[in-house]
Amino acid sequence: MTTAILWLRNDLRLHDHEALHRALQQADTIVPFYCFDKRLFEDTPYGFKRCGAQRLQFLMQSVQSLQQAFAAKGVGMEITVGNPVQALQDLAERTGAKWMFYHREATTEELADEAAVVKNLQSAGLECHGFWGSTLFHPEDLPFPLARLPEVFTDFRKRTEREAQVRELWPVPGKMQGIAGCQQVWPSEKQRGEAPSPSDPRAVLAFEGGEAAGLARLQRYFWEEDRLQEYKETRNGLIGQGYSSKFSPWLAVGALSPRFIYHEIQRYERQRISNQSTYWLIFELLWRDYFRFVAHKHGAALFQAGGIKQNGQAHPYKAKALELWKEGRTKQAFIDANMRELRATGFMSNRGRQNVASYLVHHLKCDWRAGAAWFEHTLLDYDPCSNYGNWNYLAGVGNDPRENRVFNPEKQAANYDPQGEYQRLWGAS
Ligand SMILES: Cc1cc2nc3c(=O)[nH]c(=O)nc-3n(C[C@H](O)[C@H](O)[C@H](O)COP(=O)(O)OP(=O)(O)OC[C@H]3O[C@@H](n4cnc5c(N)ncnc54)[C@H](O)[C@@H]3O)c2cc1C
Repeated sequence: MTTAILWLRNDLRLHDHEALHRALQQADTIVPFYCFDKRLFEDTPYGFKRCGAQRLQFLMQSVQSLQQAFAAKGVGMEITVGNPVQALQDLAERTGAKWMFYHREATTEELADEAAVVKNLQSAGLECHGFWGSTLFHPEDLPFPLARLPEVFTDFRKRTEREAQVRELWPVPGKMQGIAGCQQVWPSEKQRGEAPSPSDPRAVLAFEGGEAAGLARLQRYFWEEDRLQEYKETRNGLIGQGYSSKFSPWLAVGALSPRFIYHEIQRYERQRISNQSTYWLIFELLWRDYFRFVAHKHGAALFQAGGIKQNGQAHPYKAKALELWKEGRTKQAFIDANMRELRATGFMSNRGRQNVASYLVHHLKCDWRAGAAWFEHTLLDYDPCSNYGNWNYLAGVGNDPRENRVFNPEKQAANYDPQGEYQRLWGAS
């Protein structure tokens, strides 16, 4: 019997999973492995943890859902908490595995982990195979090498749309065989910290982690409620589940594959309607791809004060201003409503995110990295590439070709919340 370890990170699904597919091709038995990285529980310099209670809950649900999906196929999953590099070394010794399969990531910490894991396991005699599985377009299919990725999104999009194709899906595997004696260790109460607040009735959606819930969300948004055909007109909304797809939390943990969404859009275009809205969801997924490739190209600069432009200093960090912003007590009603929604639910619309980020940087003149860290703590859909990429953009240190883009919250509220309904919904309670 030969065994392969499948190292899972932000690819918590069975559909469209190349690493899983390859592991099953190679080995008789597989050991899916997930490690809750101890960095999740570390404090930021701003006095809160990197991962807040609601995001952790969504992540734990996602891991549990995958564990159940493997169990239904007769395969045990190894789950632990700590340092993935050490944990994988121990697992390799315990199982006598010959191979390790995984999906590659784009950001510095994750890439450093990959390098350390591969080095360790190779010196223990394992073969390691990494694949790219997190974007719509595979980097090898782009019309330029990642090192020469265009610095402006529109240039990237136009060339990619013209010259590249989205690959086919990897099928959901049928039979598979696991090993006996897998262990499951979950984050302790102490690591989890405060309990997540109960679901707020004002939330856009009662988000639940896991592949099944992600697929059900797509089924509802595309097929049951037929909302994709009006996406372009509704996507700047603020209230309710229907104004945008809400796919982002499942995309962030890899419970939904962007390629799967793309192929479903194509099916929708064949079976229902093809219009500007159906295209626009692909356009937005291209933004997601772009930030992932930007992170890959620019490395650690994405997280530094001067951003990927490396153009000077950020504003100083202002603890009091950050506190008021975080709590929705700046006295700017539109900003406060958005920040309260984020804190209560772990979600905020794209319109809201642009406004509150701009406000922290340009009105409160606070270091953008403190705001990005709060988003990292709170957002269910936190993704290092999309989060830090968008913050770079809004702070003027990223890929925005327009200099000094500042959002005027009064004007924005008048345009997007003209009756004040959203501000009343999240007003002072
Ligand atoms: C300051 C700031 C921080 C952000 N942080 C994150 C983050 O950590 N994680 C995250 O997934 N998105 C982030 N976004 C992007 C965007 O706000 C969310 O992806 C979107 O609001 C999620 O809702 P949805 O799934 O309903 O989006 P939809 O409008 O339905 O869009 C579909 C998908 O397209 C992608 N997408 C849409 N807009 C963007 C964008 N501007 N950048 C990258 N991808 C995009 C997302 O994957 C999204 O799920 C951030 C935006 C800003 C301005």
